[in-house]
Amino acid sequence: MNFEDRLAYAETVAGFMPPDEGRALARHGLMRASEQPHGTWLEIGAWCGKSAVYLGAAAARGASVLYSLDHHHGSEENQVGWEHHDPTLVDPVDGRLNTLPAWQRTIAVAELEDTVIGLVGPSSVVAAHFTQPLDLLFIDGGHGHDVAWADYTVWAPKVVPGGRLLIHDVFADPADGGRPPYEIYCAALEAGFDEVDAVGSLRVLRAR
Ligand code: SAH
Ligand code: MG
Repeated sequence: MNFEDRLAYAETVAGFMPPDEGRALARHGLMRASEQPHGTWLEIGAWCGKSAVYLGAAAARGASVLYSLDHHHGSEENQVGWEHHDPTLVDPVDGRLNTLPAWQRTIAVAELEDTVIGLVGPSSVVAAHFTQPLDLLFIDGGHGHDVAWADYTVWAPKVVPGGRLLIHDVFADPADGGRPPYEIYCAALEAGFDEVDAVGSLRVLRAR
């Protein structure tokens, strides 16, 4: 599959990424890939692989690798009885949400198995054992206060100077969505990241 075919396919994958934001992910990924080929990228929050295909399409162009991290049991709002629950993603054996099979199918269809590598586990545990500097980091994991702040605190310092930090679900107006992604975005601006783009709720920052 070529770059454009991957973007078109990504639009059909189940998930929480509008096409304009997904294409912005790919565009900024391409820019980073041209500056720094063979880079190491990581996303927190894989779900069924939608954002991984957008970013992976760009990563493949620069021979970079995207680690796609998730425990694959969903966030609070994905559980039974919540707004974003999808009963087809429940494992009949244990009754738990499990997005790993869907994620694997997505990455296979997109022909990105050599580019997008799954990391299955809690973000903070993986972070404590992940020492590789990151050329690009996309934060789209849990939206609760503690989880979002933990993701920012442990992962953002791994971004190299000139690297990109992308954050999803950033809403300046509390009426539009939860606070934690906006709070970590503000913290990143304070901590030496410069904003380079904003598309929908996606913010793209560059490390000084
Ligand atoms: N980027 C995805 C959407 C991610 S939704 C897309 O494009 O569709 C948020 C994901 O974060 C969920 O799949 C959930 O399982 C995961 N998540 C939440 N908290 C996590 C944690 N502490 N560690 C690992 N994954 C987590
Ligand atoms: Mg999101």
